[in-house]
Amino acid sequence: MIRQYELVERVKAYDPNADEDALNRAYVFSLKAHGAQMRASGDPYFSHPLEVAGILTDIHLDTDSIVTALLHDTVEDTVATLPQIESHFGGNVAKLVDGVTKLSQLELQSPDSKQAENFRKLMLATSEDIRVLLVKLADRLHNMRTLSFIATPEKRTRIARETMEIYAPLAERIGWHQMKDELEDLAFAELNADARQSLVARLEFLRTEGENVVPRIVMALDKMLADGGLKGDITGREKRPYSIWRKMYRKNVGFEGLADIMAFRVLVDTKEQCYQALGIIHTHCRAIPERFKDYISTPKVNGYQSLHTAVIGPEQRRIEIQIRTREMHEVAELGVAAHWQYKQGIGLREGKQFRWLREMLEIIEHASGPEEFLEHTRLAMYQDQVFCFTPKGDLIAMPRGATPVDFAYAVHSQIGDTCIGCKINGKIMPLRTPLSNGDQVEIATAKGGTPSPNWEGFVVTAKARSRLRRFVRSRQRTEYLRLGQAMLTKAFREAGYEPSEAALSPVLARFEAADIDDLHVAVGKGTCTSSEVLQAVFPHAAPRSGEAAAKSDDGKVVPLRPVRGSADTPIPIRGLIPGMAVHYANCCHPLPGDRIVGIVTQGKGVTIHTIDCETLESFHETPERWLDVAWDMGPEPMQSHVGRVNLVVANERGTLGALTTAIAKHLGNINNLKITNRSEDFFEMAVDIEVDDAKHLAEIIAALRAVPQVTSVDRARG
Ligand code: MN
Repeated sequence: MIRQYELVERVKAYDPNADEDALNRAYVFSLKAHGAQMRASGDPYFSHPLEVAGILTDIHLDTDSIVTALLHDTVEDTVATLPQIESHFGGNVAKLVDGVTKLSQLELQSPDSKQAENFRKLMLATSEDIRVLLVKLADRLHNMRTLSFIATPEKRTRIARETMEIYAPLAERIGWHQMKDELEDLAFAELNADARQSLVARLEFLRTEGENVVPRIVMALDKMLADGGLKGDITGREKRPYSIWRKMYRKNVGFEGLADIMAFRVLVDTKEQCYQALGIIHTHCRAIPERFKDYISTPKVNGYQSLHTAVIGPEQRRIEIQIRTREMHEVAELGVAAHWQYKQGIGLREGKQFRWLREMLEIIEHASGPEEFLEHTRLAMYQDQVFCFTPKGDLIAMPRGATPVDFAYAVHSQIGDTCIGCKINGKIMPLRTPLSNGDQVEIATAKGGTPSPNWEGFVVTAKARSRLRRFVRSRQRTEYLRLGQAMLTKAFREAGYEPSEAALSPVLARFEAADIDDLHVAVGKGTCTSSEVLQAVFPHAAPRSGEAAAKSDDGKVVPLRPVRGSADTPIPIRGLIPGMAVHYANCCHPLPGDRIVGIVTQGKGVTIHTIDCETLESFHETPERWLDVAWDMGPEPMQSHVGRVNLVVANERGTLGALTTAIAKHLGNINNLKITNRSEDFFEMAVDIEVDDAKHLAEIIAALRAVPQVTSVDRARG
């Protein structure tokens, strides 16, 4: 175990200004908090956070990170609390510890490759400060180093797979290659111990066979460069078993077929020297075709820069060579962590290596030093995405702004189509709520449930959008069809005919209809009228008497025909969805129980008005647009309807309260309230109330009349 003073010495060695006191206090705090807890290895638990801190000193992290490493398991595994940590070590450390704790809580139960990529992104997206991720990776590395102490093989396998699928690629993504290499090798040893063992044995054999071959090749390369007038640092190594194994696996070649069991690295001072070194090597050694890669002119996404080549090198051995500057090398080994190394007086090297960090770096480039830089750093990656969980723990990635409806469609079209509500993190929330990273979303569905066209207003995913469009279109068509069919039947029967297929077929072309259904849709939509069709089929048929409207004594237009016999049965309409073929007029807000009439509007279907709506007067001249309709009181409850009342109330304290109380008492739900006129003494207002039917609204109006402050109240009539 690292001793207290050793840890402080290590940090002070690279950061003379390190906060010694904070390090000491964190050491003691963690030691006390973990108390007598033990690791599976039989070591005191405290050895774990201490080792994690040690790993981070290797990459020269700042005091806050080391303190965080010491404390990283205290909140989850001991009685220590976040507020305690905040009061002892300040807000920054508390935030970092909280971040690490949250990442630990996100850990997957059973990773599979499909989810792993999403999960890595989630980890990146949720670790706002990249130091959180660095501590988490160090935590994982130490757990992997001590993996053999875990007794259950299943648990070991799970942890190793998680490491292979999530943590090693994560380390690679942020460019921390040392970390990635060790994690992979440790996981490989657990997951495929036999393969690893045999590779190690082969490597051992080669080593003894070609004694000191690596140092000999290093010397030969060194001389080659020196003869060319160039000085570089050359190192050579055997590749790690896992990378050899992966290459064998991917390229389907045997051990002997591998070019690069040995890899060499040439470090030089400048970019120009990199190309110079490459030139010298290619002059003396035959290059293996298609193995040359220039990551200097085209860096990898994580900022990695290097020249790669493979040649038949000294002693006729196939070797791989990487050539880069020392600065590129540092980034290659430590990646983003290189930026966090505490370097007196150097600060950040402009952040050029990380294109995905650059924008962020530009914003904060005026930060006075590394400390301030660290404080303001946020991970900019994957900001455009949001990651949520299903109740089973599956991860769903969506664009930012996605709602539970998008989520439902992402899980399955059927779930989207029948979705009626949702819980986010266990709480019932509106379907339009934008989701956040890590939200657990539970979708409630109903058999026979249908999407609401209103959803189109807030969904963001293409899948949800296209499903909704399709649904609305087909729903609309079905309704137009039904409506048109009823209208035609009515018109024909009134004239004493049947709208049979045989009768209608000859006139389809005239109405540009492909088939009978098409014709029905056209009539339903109002593109052509039922009497036009009737006239076309039977030119001598009597005009529809029922379509005529007459003026009553008071000049109001009312449909003439009394409802009588089957031919005269009004067309039933039901609770309808906005955007559909039948809609309710905004002027008179018809409610179930009201007497109603439909007005056919070309291309829009039918608008339902109450029979005494004043707007109807304007349709006086076009009786053919009038349609007899009635409410269809089916067995299922209708969706609620909105009625409007106009009120004149006294302008005094408590009036609004009295109104809303009266409405609520009678189970009305205020949908909208608008003051239309105000004077010193009185307010005029229009209130939209969700009610079951006309009777329900009448009850509410009666109740409102009983409110003392109310002068008058009436249903809006257009
Ligand atoms: Mn830990």
